Amino acid sequence: MANKMSVPYPRRPNDPSIRGLCNFSLSCCVNALLQSLFATDELLALLDRWKPNGDWEDSNNVPLQLKRALYAMGGEARLQPAPHRNFLACLHRNSIHRNVQHDADEVFLSVLNLIQQQMADTHVKKEILDLYKVNVEGHTRCLECTFDHVVNSFFVSLPLSLCEGQNNLEECIQSFFREHKLSGEDACYCDRCGEKQPSSQGFKLCSLPKILCIHLKRFRHEGGFTRKLYCKVAFPETLNFPNVLDPEHISVVEKGNTFYSLYAVVVHSGAAMFGHYTAYIQPPRDPRWYYANDSRVQQVQWSDVQQSYGGQKGSDTAYMLLYRKQPASDDQGYSG
Ligand SMILES: [Zn+2]
Repeated sequence: MANKMSVPYPRRPNDPSIRGLCNFSLSCCVNALLQSLFATDELLALLDRWKPNGDWEDSNNVPLQLKRALYAMGGEARLQPAPHRNFLACLHRNSIHRNVQHDADEVFLSVLNLIQQQMADTHVKKEILDLYKVNVEGHTRCLECTFDHVVNSFFVSLPLSLCEGQNNLEECIQSFFREHKLSGEDACYCDRCGEKQPSSQGFKLCSLPKILCIHLKRFRHEGGFTRKLYCKVAFPETLNFPNVLDPEHISVVEKGNTFYSLYAVVVHSGAAMFGHYTAYIQPPRDPRWYYANDSRVQQVQWSDVQQSYGGQKGSDTAYMLLYRKQPASDDQGYSG
């Protein structure tokens, strides 16, 4: 067991294909997430740099068990039947329980949080967070006195609201940053007026991460139960931010490249309470798309990925999108 951690790097250069992960106790959500994390070379490189001081067999440590699962998915142990079994058991001990239908975005955020809590190496854990961090400037403007309250914050997955009709990703991103009016119960306290006032709230983009994770908010909580939105959300294979956002919503002009390409789509099928997760993955250094449905993996076309736009009741729907920033021409990237 101990020498499993000595595998230097999980992905063999000429073997980019991905392997299936069998479904244990409703683990499809974690399986789909693991496939997307395994396709994130930047994360694998950071986990590879991390040398835990403590017990290498600590079965409660999420970053350690994640590292082991990702190694086993790609390393010399790749043919073992269940490379993620210990990771699932570790999540269970960290309150992400077996036999429960999970929300993929919530599990993703929980795993990132647990990495921050359980990894002692402050440099590596900061770099893992920075990998996903979209820094924004939140502006809340009092409509009475025009005072502008500015708060800096960040998102590691961009939560995009959807409308019931047709959506496209670029419009959803624009809408996220655009000013919204807040009045009545939603009115904000104004420091200058000393009372709640109707306000407008919007964001300016401060910096873009290497990995842009987008959460399409398809689950709407209403009157004590959860409804799924099957509406169509068209998303592109490549995204260039200056073409998406108006200059007034960009706080600092991004230096270098703002060009992204899609490499993973976590898909939710079925209804809100009885769903199934799968993933479309384009592994690094492999132009082909694959569809991972638990233990089954098949090669597919971009037109198959587009089937997850949704638009009809019961259709498969993209739930999380992962885009990778393309290295600038003078930048050989993390691996250089
Ligand atoms: Zn005011």
